[in-house]
Amino acid sequence: MTNNKSKLHSKILLSPPHMSGHEQKFIEDAFEQNWISPLGPNVDSFENDIELYLNQNRHVAVLNSGTAAIHLALKMIGVKANDEVLCQTKTFVASVNPVKYLGATPVLIDSEKETWNICPKLLEEAIVDRMSKGKKPKAIIAVSLYGMPYNATQIETISKKYDIPVIEDCAEAFGSDLNGKKCGTFGDFSILSFNGNKIITTSGGGALISKSKGFKNKAIFLASQAKEPGEHYLHQTIGYNYRMSNIIAGIGRGQIKVLDEYVSLRRRNFKYYQQSLNHIKGITFLKEPNGYRSNRWLTCMLLDNETTRNNVMEWLNNHDIESRPSWKPMHLQPVYKNTPAYLNGVSSELHRRGLCLPSGSNLSEKDLQRIVNIIKSYFGET
Ligand SMILES: *Cc1c(COP(=O)(O)O)cnc(C)c1O
Repeated sequence: MTNNKSKLHSKILLSPPHMSGHEQKFIEDAFEQNWISPLGPNVDSFENDIELYLNQNRHVAVLNSGTAAIHLALKMIGVKANDEVLCQTKTFVASVNPVKYLGATPVLIDSEKETWNICPKLLEEAIVDRMSKGKKPKAIIAVSLYGMPYNATQIETISKKYDIPVIEDCAEAFGSDLNGKKCGTFGDFSILSFNGNKIITTSGGGALISKSKGFKNKAIFLASQAKEPGEHYLHQTIGYNYRMSNIIAGIGRGQIKVLDEYVSLRRRNFKYYQQSLNHIKGITFLKEPNGYRSNRWLTCMLLDNETTRNNVMEWLNNHDIESRPSWKPMHLQPVYKNTPAYLNGVSSELHRRGLCLPSGSNLSEKDLQRIVNIIKSYFGET
């Protein structure tokens, strides 16, 4: 059974799940062997599949969400109450919330125009400024938004210069690469998400990627209630219930088989939009800088201004096509209004002008044509 189209909606959705047909078998195996638990052969194999895919001697622990993976990464770095953590402001809220779970303070950093991700120059200014105020930040959370890798070369240089570890949030960038190296291999810790809207999905889930077997084992330990070995339910640390289940991992095993194919399909979507709409005055798209290869998880186009963006969004909605404004940066979120921030205006402008278009790997050529024609008709082209 391949459910390539969401049967519940006639609407064209932003980024719906896309099952490949390989998933069911692994789930059936799990049922047959009664591995209905947060451990089992699918869990081990899915971790192995991800390690092989990344191909950089990385160690993977699969978890029940990407948010949990960020939480554990911060925990393993040793972030504690009242510490400061530098975070890209232009992101989904899940990148930043785990900092608050630990009672620490996020320090928000604006974007660069080239990738829309954390601006290396502002990041360094922020580090110098925080240190001059007497507090050295404990970690950097850099995000590869919409699949575009952040400038990992410069961020790594800064990380080494000031000896501050990087958490690479590539929840949206599985399958992307920079200078031939896969996203997921740039941070001291990296995280993936398999939420329902991501390029591959397990319905919900995530992964923590680290550089040693020791960190992987520690992550699994913390994600399994920090239960000490042995039969006696001995606990010396506070743990969490964050492990991925064997059923869910079965979906992941089926999905990772088609990851590269889905990257091609999402890149096809981007190219189609760009080639069909680029000539319209006031519409632009983010180019890949040299050496960058984005999975183009979501195609986000920029309009002239916020009014046009909102009108196009409404026009699409009236035609049963879902679209969404580009992420609202954290420094504009009520919940983070008192958080320190180092800003240059880039992320707020992207939020005002950005519109994410339907980008699923299961979009048909006909869907793409229809979406493009509706957008063209808004601009008076038929
Ligand atoms: C989806 C997402 C996450 C969180 O992943 P979940 O699996 O939904 O917890 C984190 N960061 C970014 C940038 C995301 O898009």
